[in-house]
Amino acid sequence: MTGAPLRLYNSLSRAIEDFHPIDPDQVRIYTCGPTVYNYQHIGNMRAFLFADTLGRVMRWKGYGLRHIINITDVGHLTSDADAGDDKMEKAARAQQKSIWDIAAHYTDAFKLDVQRLNITPPAKWTVATDYVGAMIEFAEGIADKHCYRLDSGLYFDVSTVPDYGRLARATTEAGESRLDPVDGKRNQQDFAIWRTSPPGEQRQMEWDSPWGRGAPGWHLECSVMSLAELGHPFDIHTGGIDHREIHHPNEIAQNQAKCGCDAADPGFTGARIWMHNNFLVDRGGKMSKSTGEFLRLQTLIDRGIHPLSYRLMCLSAHYRSELEFTWDNVIAAQTRLKRLVQTVEKLRASPDKPSRGTVEGYRERFDAAVSDDLNTPRALPVLDELLADKSLSPADRLAAAADFDAVLGLNLASVTRADLRTRPADATIDADTIEARLAERRQARADKDFARSDALRDELAAQGVEVMDGDPLGWDWKL
Ligand code: AMP
Ligand code: ZN
Repeated sequence: MTGAPLRLYNSLSRAIEDFHPIDPDQVRIYTCGPTVYNYQHIGNMRAFLFADTLGRVMRWKGYGLRHIINITDVGHLTSDADAGDDKMEKAARAQQKSIWDIAAHYTDAFKLDVQRLNITPPAKWTVATDYVGAMIEFAEGIADKHCYRLDSGLYFDVSTVPDYGRLARATTEAGESRLDPVDGKRNQQDFAIWRTSPPGEQRQMEWDSPWGRGAPGWHLECSVMSLAELGHPFDIHTGGIDHREIHHPNEIAQNQAKCGCDAADPGFTGARIWMHNNFLVDRGGKMSKSTGEFLRLQTLIDRGIHPLSYRLMCLSAHYRSELEFTWDNVIAAQTRLKRLVQTVEKLRASPDKPSRGTVEGYRERFDAAVSDDLNTPRALPVLDELLADKSLSPADRLAAAADFDAVLGLNLASVTRADLRTRPADATIDADTIEARLAERRQARADKDFARSDALRDELAAQGVEVMDGDPLGWDWKL
């Protein structure tokens, strides 16, 4: 580990803590992944951008890293309680497809967005249905002491573990209204770890178990996959802030039960640190799949926004702050990215000369910012200042920018201004035609034929092309 001490906000203590890895050679991180019954919206992608920034900071600071992200292809119900349909079964019925087709389609779409946003792929994408055997084994190991059976499945009794819900700061009496009742539950917050299929009803995804044919509960998946791939305790568990309330407390309860180490290690939760990103919101509140406009990364691309502009928009806010999505915000981020890319392009083209100073001070400030609970909004201006520092040679500035970009992931070394000129899907005119019209217009202006020049500008405007004379960014036009 190099540089400033890394400090991270732990949702368990609700405080910023010094980070000390369990194994200094390899930091182990688990991130709750997508439920692949639908596309991920850009709010979901904020959660993965946050986890990626965490992983990048670890590697940049010299740690080895094993990062796991799961794919939930079974078990996630339409409500956080134990009532309602399996999201996957429901989507398959609605689209008249097999669950496996649904899962494959949305998993591919998600991975494409991961790649477009330059999110580093994890060491392994763990797919829930690959771990059902291990889930049954895990459940068998804790069933006697911690679970009870109802007709609808095997339930976890939250009163059998100490301090249930401390991550959510909830008590076993509180929050009753958030859960749909299931007859026979001992405590409101008890949850199904195995859901037995109702008699006469066949699900597409079912497995035999000691509790009848059925499917695993969603919370069980993450306990089992994190244990199998990382071992308990591992360093950091991440997810969106909604998971702090039910999903993660339930994972913790299962981990406590499995470990059976209450007396020896009363603080045991399965992970040392639990980290949560805040929501991407729009005017209607939290962006979600059921309410408001469903914005996918593809929607942004179709409107001329480059994926890395959205990445920069997310980096411009702290992960623990709500971030409001507006088109103006994302367009402003795109302008900021264009400026960065243009500056880097200019530096690359400049003749080299010796530096009169060093980049060290910038590196220290950048490090201090990202080591302070991933404060990327404070790190970004350090990059701007570095690039503008004329006492440093172009080569030194470029090398330091590339170094910072290992954390930011903006592809500054390879993205060109032309890449950022994304063409809106509904544009009816292509770049060659625009260039040809602009050449005609330049000629008209050279001939002082201003009526012709204005007519060409209006003609382009009617097709959605804005002509930008003297734009400081050096763009002649934009769609
Ligand atoms: P899901 O596919 O619903 O399981 O969600 C994937 C991830 O996105 C989870 O970590 C959620 O907590 C997170 N998430 C859901 N909605 C938002 C949002 N509006 N902003 C940020 N993260 C979100
Ligand atoms: Zn999870």
